[in-house]
Amino acid sequence: MSIVNSRRSRDLYSIFSQGFERVVAAQRRTFGTAYDSYRDQWSRAERREILTPVPLQLDIDLASRCNMSCRYCNGMPYILRGEEYRINLQLLRLRLDEAVGRGIRSLNFGNGAEPLLTADEMFPLISHARSLGVIDLFVHSNGLLLSRRMSRKIIEANVTFLCISLDALREETYSRYGRKGFPAILENIDGFLEQRRLAKSDTPGLRISFLPTTDNIGELDDFIYQWKDKADKIDIQSVIDLDKSFNLDRIPGFIKFSPACVSPWTRMAIWPNNSYGVCCQPFCLSQSGGMNNGSLADKSIAQAWQSSLMNRVRTGLISDDAVTACVKCLDSYYRYDEDKIATGDHDRQ
Ligand code: SF4
Repeated sequence: MSIVNSRRSRDLYSIFSQGFERVVAAQRRTFGTAYDSYRDQWSRAERREILTPVPLQLDIDLASRCNMSCRYCNGMPYILRGEEYRINLQLLRLRLDEAVGRGIRSLNFGNGAEPLLTADEMFPLISHARSLGVIDLFVHSNGLLLSRRMSRKIIEANVTFLCISLDALREETYSRYGRKGFPAILENIDGFLEQRRLAKSDTPGLRISFLPTTDNIGELDDFIYQWKDKADKIDIQSVIDLDKSFNLDRIPGFIKFSPACVSPWTRMAIWPNNSYGVCCQPFCLSQSGGMNNGSLADKSIAQAWQSSLMNRVRTGLISDDAVTACVKCLDSYYRYDEDKIATGDHDRQ
């Protein structure tokens, strides 16, 4: 595999290999025109031209658990406080049954928690979602529990993309983030690719992400070089520095910017305490921030999506009158200048 394309979209700089195109082709083969129609809806929603009756994507955490404590993770407030919550699976299924037929096309597991810790609950839910007509399925993991057996289950579940947040080229850098198990994770990823080869499957695609910080920015070019022939997509993320403690203003190449947020037109979060969040930012969970969008027990997904709070957030984002949480959020973004990123052999000479 090799890099075929790279582009910036709002808060991500993405580098695509041929494998990415194979994943898209596989989705088209499986879902036919429904896939193109969903992607078209997504593009129009991102341009804020349409508001679908339910979100196109749900970002779901089934439990407030993680097996790492990363320094740069915004984390879910209750993970950081050590509180345990688990989603009411029966209630979640009921809400999905009501809403998928109205247009939910994508589920993402692993928003602020580690989804492989709840694999026993996640796989039956994935299979149920597929039977209801969900097209894209994403699993965002740190890769620590990605055994070969787990890889086979992910492949058999027809997940669209397995997304691993790696963020480092060297173990020393990885450990500096408060993380553990770097060699095991690299081996797990190789094991996943081997299992996918054995299954002769184009899916799940492998997406590797890199959050550029003062600790790892010197490794970025080599990171891309290392992963360009293995990953189907490499995403260089933007940093959300809410309390301005990362000092990115002082590091050459980092640019402060405010992305046009389209999240309330495309996706909504479901937290493990059985509540809806306006968006997938963990800080939006806080009751005091006014971004908690009610309980699964009281509202359907459609009602939460069309709530007065969601509409107020949308209006604020398009009218220069953003709600307080959005103002703070949009004032916190930093990205690394993509003109300084080497994506090919020629850039390295
Ligand atoms: S807090 Fe507001 S601006 Fe930030 S992601 Fe959520 S909806 Fe968008």
